[in-house]
Amino acid sequence: RPTQVVDMLEEVTDRFSFQMQEKGIKPSLSIGDGVGMIWIDRDQIDQVLDNLISNALKYTPEGGTISLEARNADDGMLAISVEDNGMGIPKKDQERIFERFYRVDKARSRNMGGTGLGLSIAREIVKAHGGSIWLQSEVGKGTKVIFTLPQQEQGGRMT
Ligand code: ATP
Ligand code: MG
Repeated sequence: RPTQVVDMLEEVTDRFSFQMQEKGIKPSLSIGDGVGMIWIDRDQIDQVLDNLISNALKYTPEGGTISLEARNADDGMLAISVEDNGMGIPKKDQERIFERFYRVDKARSRNMGGTGLGLSIAREIVKAHGGSIWLQSEVGKGTKVIFTLPQQEQGGRMT
């Protein structure tokens, strides 16, 4: 499943263009030098991207910004990030956020919908691809979720 990274990221922003417009959020996309094809299970990585973008949309107020970036990391991995300037995640919750069903502050999450599974599924998928996922976040400033994927086919595992 060779996939063109720029196409994949353009298509995910297209899938959310209506919801973005509704909230007055303009997505930005940045593709680093030398980023081209990647061998992945496209449906699974789409699921990761869909969750990260839908989280960014849910937890970012009207008029905010969502930035997608793909670049080559120094260890031969591709790094993809989704950054928003929304409400952020408190430090104490950051390490638990990838656990199943974990959601920050039930009160703020209740009216947002969702099950708290998205990030744990994203982590499973990224791990199965041989990558890792983590986040940087500050309350009131925003959240950046970064995940890495090996550039090369993993011993035929993805074929
Ligand atoms: P689901 O993805 O199953 O619909 P969910 O979005 O609540 O539900 P996760 O995607 O696993 O679940 O996210 C877990 C929790 O992490 C969220 O409930 C929210 O509290 C917090 N969170 C995730 N992404 C962000 C973000 N971009 N900004 C602020 N908080 C976030
Ligand atoms: Mg989610």
